[in-house]
Formats: sequence, structure tokens, C-alpha cells
Amino acid sequence: MFRMTAAHDRLRFELAVHRRAGLRRMSPRVSPAPAATATAPERQAQLDRVAQEVASCTACKLCEQRNRAVPGEGALDPPILFIGEGPGADEDASGRPFVGRAGQLLDKMIAAIQLERRQVYIANIVKCRPPENRQPEPDEVRACAGYLERQIAALRPRLICTLGLPATRALLPDVRAISAVRGREFTYGGVPLVPTFHPAYLLRNPAAKPQAWEDLQLVARKLGIVLARRNPPPAPN
Ligand code: URA
Ligand code: SF4
Repeated sequence: MFRMTAAHDRLRFELAVHRRAGLRRMSPRVSPAPAATATAPERQAQLDRVAQEVASCTACKLCEQRNRAVPGEGALDPPILFIGEGPGADEDASGRPFVGRAGQLLDKMIAAIQLERRQVYIANIVKCRPPENRQPEPDEVRACAGYLERQIAALRPRLICTLGLPATRALLPDVRAISAVRGREFTYGGVPLVPTFHPAYLLRNPAAKPQAWEDLQLVARKLGIVLARRNPPPAPN
């Protein structure tokens, strides 16, 4: 017979919270959200736990073909949490997010707002590589959502920057087109959120780079970063 336990109660509660936040399901693993008073070492331990669980997770079919799960990496209390779509081949091989060509462009985007990669946090909506680099499917995004939720709660980023439509939709389910929301301000769980283009899209469509630069300038302004004049890309004329 099914017996209610404290853990079941908590799961039901968290599901209700997530449903309200627009996430219909969450990862089956349950872990208490860090208390508002959690210390930095406690929050680091929460992040480490997520990474450990992800490494052996089988909650969706993406576990079948992965070489390494890619939990994400970076600093606690980051000025920015960048969220991408999912690991590609280079990330699947190394276990680290955004280390391929798109990652090199992301590094430049971070440098353009006078930050270093190690100062921010970089994660993905799914932690295992979708085969052939296809987009993650809705059931996979739902299965993985709990990990990202726990990362956001433990990290306490000052701002979230979603990269591309799939990442943006994972947090703002009503969004239909990245072009309609990029460079605008939203909030997610009380944290400011600014969507921009995915760097892989920018590699294919360099003409969109000036718009991405506008988005990054908004991000910098929101964080109180005063950009040096040498940073903007050359004027079009
Ligand atoms: N693209 C992503 O969305 N995430 C990565 O980690 C790498 C490439
Ligand atoms: Fe688990 Fe996420 Fe990997 Fe799916 S993508 S197996 S939910 S860690």
C-alpha cells in the first residue's frame, strides 16, 4: 500500500510550486531547497550533490548515449548564470559546459562585459547530450528541470541570461520566439532574466551579433558594469 511520508509530502509540495512556476514536472530526486540562511559552504555542497546525482542520473533517455554528464561549472553567487540548451560533442567528451566553438564565442561574450568565465556560472537545461545535437525534447527538459532549479537556488545568481529559445522557454514557457524576447527584461523566481541569442546561432548568423551585443550591454547595465569604450563592435559605416 502507498504510504505518505514526509518525503512524499515534500515532493507533492514542490511539484505544486513548480507547476505554478510553469514547470509541469521535476526531476524525481528530492532535496531540500537551501534555506535563505544557508552558508556558502552549504550551498556549494548542494551544487556538488547535484553534480554527483547528474553523473549517474537515468531519469530520461539522454542517459543512454552520454559519455559524460555536464552539470555546469563556475562560481557561487555569480553575477550571471548563463543557461544553454545542452551539451554537444565536445562537452559530452570533457564533462564541461560550452568548451567547443560555441563556448569560445560565449567566452568572448563574457569578456565583452569585462567578466571572466570563472566568475560566472554556466549550465544547461539538460545535462546529457542529445544525439546528433538535436534539440532536447519536452519530456527530457521536464525530467532534468529539478537539477537546474536546485542549481539556481544554491547559486543565487544576480541575473540569469538564457541562450536561445529552448533555454528561454524552459524558464518562461509562454515564449514563442527568441527574437520577440531577446534584450528584454523578465524575472524568474525573483531573479532578473535577460534572454539573448545562443552563441551557436550567432556563429551561423553573424549579422545578429550587434543585437547580441545590445543584449549584453543591457546585462552589464543591470549589473552596474561600466563598459570601456573599446568594447563595442565597430560602427557599421
Ligand atoms: N551548446 C549548449 O547549449 N551548451 C553547451 O554546453 C555547449 C554548446
Ligand atoms: Fe538525468 Fe538530465 Fe541526463 Fe536526463 S538529461 S539523464 S534527466 S541528468
